Amino acid sequence: MINIAVYGDMKYSHQMKMLLQNEYSDLLRQGNGEEIVVSYLVADGHQEDGIISLSEFASKYASKELAAIVIPKEYYMQYNSLIQKLIKHGINLNDIYNGKRLTSIIGFNMDKSSMVEGYDQGQLGDLITPMLSDSYLSYLEFHVADHCNMNCKYCTHYSPLVKEPVFTDFDKWKKDMATLKSKIDDIGIIRILGGEPLLNPDLPAFIEYTRKLYPASVITVVSNGILVRQISQELIDTMNRNIAFFHISYYPPLEPTIEEVKKFLIEKNIAFTMSPKMDKFMKTTTLKPNGNEDFFYSCFEATCNCIFEGKIAACYAPYTTKFFNKEFDQSLPEDEGIDLYDSENTTENIKLKLLYPMKRCDFCINGGEQDWERVTGPTTLSDWV
Ligand code: SF4
Ligand code: SF4
Repeated sequence: MINIAVYGDMKYSHQMKMLLQNEYSDLLRQGNGEEIVVSYLVADGHQEDGIISLSEFASKYASKELAAIVIPKEYYMQYNSLIQKLIKHGINLNDIYNGKRLTSIIGFNMDKSSMVEGYDQGQLGDLITPMLSDSYLSYLEFHVADHCNMNCKYCTHYSPLVKEPVFTDFDKWKKDMATLKSKIDDIGIIRILGGEPLLNPDLPAFIEYTRKLYPASVITVVSNGILVRQISQELIDTMNRNIAFFHISYYPPLEPTIEEVKKFLIEKNIAFTMSPKMDKFMKTTTLKPNGNEDFFYSCFEATCNCIFEGKIAACYAPYTTKFFNKEFDQSLPEDEGIDLYDSENTTENIKLKLLYPMKRCDFCINGGEQDWERVTGPTTLSDWV
């Protein structure tokens, strides 16, 4: 008998627990394997029987009471930061498993958390997969425009430093995405951003191809909202047809028209989420190395895996730093990222490399909050570091 835990306390976790203990254990027994017992669910902030915190899981894992943890794919939003925490707690990466998307299991009754009679057992053979070898990423983002119409001072993507329009080359991006697909077959959420993505007139083509490659992913266009009411009918149709939605980052200039933006999106039947109003920003760049090897593990952006120019990296910084270096004649590391075309970068190698700090991480800080401002004229190095 192998005692394990399942992450989370939502219905997906309970359903995964039932499948593992019943149908999946039956399969293992038939193959003379050991049955699985899900001893706990793991969720911080709960004091219920059968639910333990991440720290409690780590101590039961250290004492060998629990052998592994399964993370249902439905937790794609928490997934990357959860893996970071598990690494910090000393959990061996080989003892972390992904749970198959429950909606992809034919015959699984989502309401009753059970299988219909006569289901095909074969499809449960891959109910769980070791995290590192699973051809799955929880999150991916890419730029379609590097410049922006908002030009927020301290923009972490350095968009105000992009003085001329810079659009992502569609054909090169398409080739990169197809190469990624050969190594990463499924992605939880894909965010299309920039800069301001609505500045790119080819946005519908990017959405269409993303959906073609990744039929099960959540696809989101991340916009500052200013241009939303002027989008083309083609973009509206493409978003509706491909089940893509908007995430609006709400900065002060949107305030006068925010209700009209919401009304427009509702009328056009485009689903959207919206951030709270953001009137503070943080300087995140330092020229003096932060000297903190662990900074990466507490960095939210480290979970924002980004594809650019034939590479993928933990975050966008290896891509956008060139704009900072060029503007201020600096030499922060900008030659990083994992080459998607290198045959040594297999699924497992890519996933492993994404979990560890980059040289660029030495030059990030939590620089304290600043009031949100727009860059309106020439900008100086001290505006950014
Ligand atoms: S809206 Fe976003 S991308 Fe544009 S400048 Fe502001 S933070 Fe940067
Ligand atoms: S470079 Fe590293 S520390 Fe900086 S934002 Fe990216 S992941 Fe975080």
